[in-house]
Amino acid sequence: MQRKRRLKEKRPGGNSGRHTPAALVGPLLAWFAANARDLPWRRTRDPYAIWISEIMLQQTQVKTVIPYWERWMRELPTAQSLARARPGKVLKLWEGLGYYTRARNLQTAAQLIMDKHDGCFPEKFDAVLALPGIGRYTAGAICSIAFNQPTPILDGNVIRVLTRLFGIGENPRETKTNARLWSLAASLVQSAARVKRRGQNCSHLNQALMELGATVCTPRQPKCHLCPVRKSCAAFREDRTGQLPNLGRRAIATERRFAAFVVERSGRFLVQQRPAGVVNAHLWEFPNLETNTRPTAGPQLAKTLFNERPEAVKPLRQIRHTITRYRITMDVFRVEFANGAPDAIPNARWCSPAQLHKLAFPSAHRNILGMLARQ
Ligand code: SF4
Repeated sequence: MQRKRRLKEKRPGGNSGRHTPAALVGPLLAWFAANARDLPWRRTRDPYAIWISEIMLQQTQVKTVIPYWERWMRELPTAQSLARARPGKVLKLWEGLGYYTRARNLQTAAQLIMDKHDGCFPEKFDAVLALPGIGRYTAGAICSIAFNQPTPILDGNVIRVLTRLFGIGENPRETKTNARLWSLAASLVQSAARVKRRGQNCSHLNQALMELGATVCTPRQPKCHLCPVRKSCAAFREDRTGQLPNLGRRAIATERRFAAFVVERSGRFLVQQRPAGVVNAHLWEFPNLETNTRPTAGPQLAKTLFNERPEAVKPLRQIRHTITRYRITMDVFRVEFANGAPDAIPNARWCSPAQLHKLAFPSAHRNILGMLARQ
């Protein structure tokens, strides 16, 4: 009797035998068929198009991604066109999405597809996983959505759904718990593959998990009354939706301060390109430096950066933004020099406003550009 009770407690979903992964598949597929949002990348099974959408959707909301994806697919509709594109064009198409390494990896991967796979997107999971910038989640998403393979996916949305459904209180970042979640995700998609029904069951099951996490099983105030699997949900039953997933304590944000300078000479502005191997590599920006001093130190900072005493320094505005765990404040100044302007800035170029608009800038510096256009 005691042994029987122990076994029962170990079942996913806690105290009910109904809550096996297989039992969830039918309701999830039916719900997805009736409720899936009409997203542009869901109208195709082209692995290239799905790959681009998956990379863009990392850390970025659907509504932000849609215009980027549509523009990208117009400009670079195939792996071949991406492989051959100018790197500056690729960065420009990505401008504003952040995490620019993703754009560079896309192009490197497209070149590998041309060289190693005769221009055809590979279908085997291991070959997809071997492409630069593609991890286990993205390879699983591409193989399941484009090729209907039973490859699991586990991202933030799916982690939230699974920890709540199965009442998993341990931190999903811990190795053992993470492995358990991958195993549950695999059981679900493999059960979907066994459903005797024509269609894209593996694709739809994985997309149902993503969609449920994005639209119903949201981080705060999940809409459990709309959820197709609430009867099987441990968190709903035990009133623990606010406690799951247990992500531990958030890393404390680090404050960083920068000063950026707008220098103009005969209607052209001084900008510089970031070198390879650093954050935002190859993007353009207004000359700037990191500082711990107050905005009033603008003249001194300009002298340090340009190695020349400025004639006038005028504060323009302050830009605040957050990147990963950094809270960044950037004080922007317009600076003038008696001899026109300094030339001793590495990787620098003088550009007209029209030329500036063709270059790719990180968001904060694009903000400065917008501000100059309005002046
Ligand atoms: Fe999430 Fe609520 Fe559905 Fe459980 S019942 S999976 S908490 S939306």
